[in-house]
Amino acid sequence: MKLDVNALRYLTKDDFRVLTAVEMGMRNHEIVPAELVDRIAGLKHGGTYKVLRNLLKNKLVHHDATKYDGYRLTYLGYDFLAIKTLVNRGVFASVGRQIGVGKESDIFEVATEDGTVLAMKLHRLGRTSFRAVKSKRDYLRHRRSFNWLYLSRLAALKEFAFMKALGDHGFPVPTAVDCNRHCVIMSLVQGYPLVQVKELQNPDDVFDTILGLIVRLAEHGLIHCDFNEFNIMIDDDEKITVIDFPQMVSVSHRNAQMFFDRDIECIYKFFNKRFNLTSEENEEQDGSESDGEGNSRPSFLSVKKAAGSLDKELAASGFTRKEQVEMEKYIDEDAEGHDSGSDDDDEDHSDEPDCTLTSRDSGVPGTFSEEHGTSCSGENRLESSPSGSNGDAKEALESEGKMLSQEDEDNDDSSLDHDEEEEDAELTKKLNKQRKKAIAAAHGRRRPASSRNAYKDKGKGTMNSKIQRQACKW
Ligand code: ADP
Ligand code: MG
Repeated sequence: MKLDVNALRYLTKDDFRVLTAVEMGMRNHEIVPAELVDRIAGLKHGGTYKVLRNLLKNKLVHHDATKYDGYRLTYLGYDFLAIKTLVNRGVFASVGRQIGVGKESDIFEVATEDGTVLAMKLHRLGRTSFRAVKSKRDYLRHRRSFNWLYLSRLAALKEFAFMKALGDHGFPVPTAVDCNRHCVIMSLVQGYPLVQVKELQNPDDVFDTILGLIVRLAEHGLIHCDFNEFNIMIDDDEKITVIDFPQMVSVSHRNAQMFFDRDIECIYKFFNKRFNLTSEENEEQDGSESDGEGNSRPSFLSVKKAAGSLDKELAASGFTRKEQVEMEKYIDEDAEGHDSGSDDDDEDHSDEPDCTLTSRDSGVPGTFSEEHGTSCSGENRLESSPSGSNGDAKEALESEGKMLSQEDEDNDDSSLDHDEEEEDAELTKKLNKQRKKAIAAAHGRRRPASSRNAYKDKGKGTMNSKIQRQACKW
């Protein structure tokens, strides 16, 4: 997707205010009624409608009049909100060229004020995997506001949290810098995806290193689940960096062994095909378990899964047992729907990004899950920590109390007026709590200044004040 950041320069405070109003409305509406956008934004003299036309022209929102006059954010609109937030936070100052296109993401270079170049990954769930999301629709049925942007945000927070934890435990992954909405900022990896490499000086060493990583990950309690030549970067010194984490699962997942074997199998196949690397094990028929020692194929059962239990550490960041169970239900549904096609069509995908049997829409554990949903939504909140007040917006807020429920991450009481949706209210409350924990974990105990302010305002903030405060920052 083209990301023309130039348009960003010409957007006014009001443009962002209305864009944010659409985002807020989308918490509870797939298509946000224009009137509601107007009430949230609180611009005078019908200003909202004029701004909406401008946003539409710039493709930042999509107009939908099927059922009523309404709008939703486009990915571009969401990109702009995330970029604006991160720029305001001082994480980077400019956006450069696109350096990667994943199945469900776009990756760009960004530069900080002092010229350091970082990588920005914008998650784009739904770009390719419609099927995969059908089951998620069921899974997320209790959430009225299910939408792609929400799922992309979950994927981003999950990726950020995992990248950070893995980095902290010495795994060769990019350094996790920051995360906002569907956007993850990380260090730029020098090197190329392994899939582009035709020759290696020491293929055996690289092969061993990679297999060693899969085993070490499992020892720490995790399985990558998309461990293949597209997600392994290699530099001129043949040093490996692993990327792309939204689909990782714990070794306690009931299909863990299958996922583990699949990751291993991918590497065997690729090295066999590309570098002619064969091993005794590789030539054997499937089903012959080895003991994981020496040169034989690593076996899930023989991995000593006690080294660090990273899975538990991550789980402690906010994933309750119940949610784990729910998540697994969702993963299973997803896997059942796709496994059939995935096992055999991994032969000829060398030019496609992430299209191996492990690709996310082919039966891999989900790219997103409620568990993370909890954490992810919070991120947003911290951003839009508001202050000030505005009667119009307050009114809008009160009449649309539900909207706040996910916005107010710092306010556990924010799930207002869910008369008919007790279930949602309860869920929201729980999510809010977990979100806080997860964010703290994801940010490595560092809390941005804006979030500290948000805490100060706990309980006092209205949506109106929120949006106004945020607008002030622009
Ligand atoms: P997806 O989840 O959509 O598969 P990836 O995280 O695998 O996305 O990234 C897609 C491509 O973008 C990678 O194959 C790689 O070429 C590039 N890329 C991703 N992250 C980085 C990074 N930190 N540094 C350099 N290139 C990257
Ligand atoms: Mg990838």
